[in-house]
Amino acid sequence: MDQTAPSAVTVTFAGSGDAFGSGGRYQACIHVRHPDGEPFLVDCGATSLTALKAAGLDPGEIGTVLVSHLHGDHFGGLPFLVLDGQFTGRTSPLTVAGPPGTAARLHQAMETLFPGSAGADRRFAVEVTELEPGGRTAVSGIEVSSYEVSHPSGAPPLALRLTVGGQVIAYTGDTAWTDALPATAAGAGLLIAEAYYFSKVIPYHLSFADLAAHRDELACRRVVLTHMSADMLARGDQPGFETAWDGCVIHLPD
Ligand SMILES: [Zn+2]
Ligand SMILES: [Zn+2]
Repeated sequence: MDQTAPSAVTVTFAGSGDAFGSGGRYQACIHVRHPDGEPFLVDCGATSLTALKAAGLDPGEIGTVLVSHLHGDHFGGLPFLVLDGQFTGRTSPLTVAGPPGTAARLHQAMETLFPGSAGADRRFAVEVTELEPGGRTAVSGIEVSSYEVSHPSGAPPLALRLTVGGQVIAYTGDTAWTDALPATAAGAGLLIAEAYYFSKVIPYHLSFADLAAHRDELACRRVVLTHMSADMLARGDQPGFETAWDGCVIHLPD
């Protein structure tokens, strides 16, 4: 999985964990380096600033954060990322793209965690783009398609399909199984899929059993499992699937 050959796109799982620190892992934080612009994150859970620094990744060079849904383990790291930029003299803009409601929820999160921070003077802009479910748009050189999934979080939850550097990366976010997932994954070189529990049914989440049952509907080259509970982590690798860990690096094309 971790090769040294040159490649167009490098995906690093700075955080591959669930919301509750299972296995000592950081919350969702997937770092993508590509030839078409600044590195970007897919999700930015509350622990992400620490996760990036632990992985040796510079938070200051991240140009864009794409957010699947507005739960703390997926977007709660944004206030820390913004304030880190403020205190390190960042000047380049930071784009945040997420579901409808992202601008208001980010403002609330910043004011809750660091009162006065939302309107603070800083040397860089934080630009929020709200993604229309079912839509396709370009964000900072990344072609982003979003699909509404099943995971109540105060705003429409999204699966994301990203085309960048000639590669297609698909991401389930958190969701119950939905017919949106085959569309999200179709033709992708990499599908990053939640596998919360092995087979236990947890409302609005994917289990490994869901993915295994529907694997032939997922027309993608590789499936890498993430967001695993202790129950799923204890199962180890499963045939036909790969598993992420904090620091795991994937090169595309492989
Ligand atoms: Zn989550
Ligand atoms: Zn969630």
